[in-house]
Amino acid sequence: MAPSARSTRGAPRLAVASPQSSYKITLLPGDGIGPEITAATVKALNAAGATKGVSFEYDEQLLGGCAIDAAGTPWPEATLKSCQAADSILMAAIGGPKWDGNPRELRPETGLLAMRQELGLFANLRPAKAIPQLLEASSLKPEIVEGVDIMVVRELCGDVYFGKPAGIFVNDEGHRVGQNNMIYSEPEIERIARVAMDVAAKRGGKCCSIDKANVLDVSQLWKEVVIRVHGEQWKDSVELSHMYVDNAAMQLVRWPKQFDTIVCGNIFGDILSDEASMLVGSLGMLPSASLPSEGPGVFEPIHGSAPDIAGTDAANPLAMILSAAMMCTYDLAQPELGQLLEDAVEAVLDDGLRTKDIVSEGATDQTLVGCVAMGDAVAAKVEALAKVLA
Ligand code: NAD
Repeated sequence: MAPSARSTRGAPRLAVASPQSSYKITLLPGDGIGPEITAATVKALNAAGATKGVSFEYDEQLLGGCAIDAAGTPWPEATLKSCQAADSILMAAIGGPKWDGNPRELRPETGLLAMRQELGLFANLRPAKAIPQLLEASSLKPEIVEGVDIMVVRELCGDVYFGKPAGIFVNDEGHRVGQNNMIYSEPEIERIARVAMDVAAKRGGKCCSIDKANVLDVSQLWKEVVIRVHGEQWKDSVELSHMYVDNAAMQLVRWPKQFDTIVCGNIFGDILSDEASMLVGSLGMLPSASLPSEGPGVFEPIHGSAPDIAGTDAANPLAMILSAAMMCTYDLAQPELGQLLEDAVEAVLDDGLRTKDIVSEGATDQTLVGCVAMGDAVAAKVEALAKVLA
């Protein structure tokens, strides 16, 4: 998608209006493998920037478990301030067993939810694109997966995760009752629908809106508003369809190529975007963007902090490098740098380099490498590709 896709009324805008020679990036390495993949990504991003005389000034801040340990909160004030002052935010992953037993306000994910709320990150974009070199990594047949190119646009600030009242209460009969509320207001649906239409218009021109309108009132409003927004300015450029969430879950594994852009609320998107990701292989390959109406977005791999392999140099940094590529395109008005990073990732895969999560057992044309070597290889490839293009 071209960066101008964020300029439509109500849709997110570029954090930076035009290309600059230097950018302020808040870096959130987080927990587990976070610091390792961050180091590899910074190397690749700096190499990409250097090819165009662009530099990055990083402000490393705490988020999640490391923030709880160092500052007593998963979302410190200093991190918020840094994010608000940045051109963009690059995050790795947070969490781990160390903090699993903590009360809710001292859990790493609480920091993530607070960040989304306070930075107004309402639109989550998750591409699920089949990588030709990794077709065998999918659990589906190659002919089903080949050519899959889906963008899931998930609403991130509303729905059952934030609807009030919520909690565990005691009812009139004295039983404990757990309650959450699925709530969407018209403006919340409008703004995410506009983002999705805009994204779809710049991609394959198809948008499938996911709901459960046969049983949920909130979904009936969702569908009605999506249809209205579509009619406002996208009737000619986007073909809109609707699907119940249960059917969508099935269709995604049956024939994923039918989808181009998918738009859904927070909880349906949470589930379907994970499903879509797994169609195309390893968690270690998939980036994401979370965008506000104005200001910096957050770019992060979709995987977690992988505590099981932290500190062993086994992490795959490519999802975070691809997140940095999205950041260049969506926030920094530097789509060529984004493309260069994507091309470099494809090229190292073409060379047969694989981290442990994506290596094929018994393959003779692949070389197993660690996180550091993979980051170095992408950085070197960026420089080599830039020389060829010059
Ligand atoms: P996970 O994504 O961390 O790991 C799942 C499996 O995939 C593990 O076997 C892991 O080794 C592997 N894996 C993940 N990323 C990898 C990479 N880059 N390279 C190689 N292998 C990789 O999910 P999980 O185990 O369910 O969660 C671990 C922690 O991460 C939990 O505390 C969870 O809450 C947190 N988490 C954080 C985020 C986030 O920061 N946005 C997202 C999901 C989970």
